[in-house]
Amino acid sequence: MAQLLEVTNLRTEFKTAAGTIRAVDGVDLSVGKGETLGIVGESGCGKSITSLSIMQLLPKGLGKVAAGEVRFNGENMLDFSERKMRSIRGNEMAMIFQEPMTSLNPVFKIGKQIAESARYHHGVSKHKAKDMAVDMLTKVGIPRPEKVAASYPHELSGGMRQRVMIAMAMVCNPKLLIADEPTTALDVTIQAQILDLMRELQKSEGTSILMITHDLGVVAEMCDRVVIMYAGQVVEETDVKTLFKDPKHPYTQSLLASLPQLNSDQERLASIPGQVPNPLDMPQGCRFAPRCQYAKEICRAEAPELTEVEPGHKSRCLLQQEGYHEYTA
Ligand code: SF4
Ligand code: MG
Repeated sequence: MAQLLEVTNLRTEFKTAAGTIRAVDGVDLSVGKGETLGIVGESGCGKSITSLSIMQLLPKGLGKVAAGEVRFNGENMLDFSERKMRSIRGNEMAMIFQEPMTSLNPVFKIGKQIAESARYHHGVSKHKAKDMAVDMLTKVGIPRPEKVAASYPHELSGGMRQRVMIAMAMVCNPKLLIADEPTTALDVTIQAQILDLMRELQKSEGTSILMITHDLGVVAEMCDRVVIMYAGQVVEETDVKTLFKDPKHPYTQSLLASLPQLNSDQERLASIPGQVPNPLDMPQGCRFAPRCQYAKEICRAEAPELTEVEPGHKSRCLLQQEGYHEYTA
C-alpha cells in the first residue's frame, strides 16, 4: 500500500517545571492510502502528543519536535512554514477530538461554522458554502439538517456535536483524518453510530484514518493495523487480526488480558498492576520492566529495540530477541 503518512524517529520534548521530558521518543509509524491505523495505549503514553506533533499543533513555547521526519505524500512537513501548515491542516489533514465543544465556537451557528470551513478550504461563494454545509450535515446522518445548521453548539446533544465535528472535518475532503478518542465521551449506542459513520465516509471518500484510542473494542471495529505505545515509544506493531490472536509484547498481552472476557463471570476489568514510569526518571533498561511479569535482570539493564519478530509484526521485548534465554537460563 502506498504510504500517505510516514513518521520516522519522531522525538517530541516538553518543558516542565521539573525539567525537559521526552514525551515521544523515537516513534516510527505509517498510514497507507485508505487505511486505518490505530495508536493504542494508556493515558500518558504519548499517543495524543504524537498526533499533535504530526499536525504541528503542540502548545507553543512548551512542546517541540526535537528530531525526526513527518512525511506526508513524500514531503517532510517539519520543513514547512506555519503558513503552509495552516493550509495543509483542514485541506489535507483534519482532526477530530473527544470533546467537540473545545473545537466548536459557542457563539456561531453550526451551519455558519461548517460553511466558513468550506469557504476557507474550497474558496466557494457564501451561498455555495451554505449548501455544502447542509449537504455535509445530511451526509453525517443529521436529521433535519437545516434546523441543525441554524442551531448553536450548546443546543445539540454530545453525539450530534460529534457528528457536526466530523462534518466540519470532512467538508474539506481531507486525505487524512486524525481522530483522537472521538467516541470516548459518548454512550455505547451513539459510539457505534459514530464509528459506522466514519467507516462509511472512509469508504466513500477514500480517507485514511489515524485513530487514537485506549479502547481495544474501537480498534477491533475500525483498524487495519495497530501500533501499541508505552512510555513514549512504540512497543508493538502488527495487523489487527494478529494483535488479538498472537500479541507478542507483554504490555500488549496485559492490555488484552484486562479486557472483560465473554462467557466469564469476571465483572470488573483486571487492571495492569503498577504505573506508567515517570518521564523525568525513565527506567534504564526496558521501560515496561517495573510492571512486567517476565522481567529478568537483563531487562533492567538493556533497553530493547523494536524488532521484526515475524513478517509485518514488530515487538520491543528482549524475550523475543536472540540470545535472551542464554542470559536468563
Ligand atoms: Fe518484559 Fe523484559 Fe520484555 Fe521488557 S524486555 S517487556 S521487561 S520481558
Ligand atoms: Mg489523549
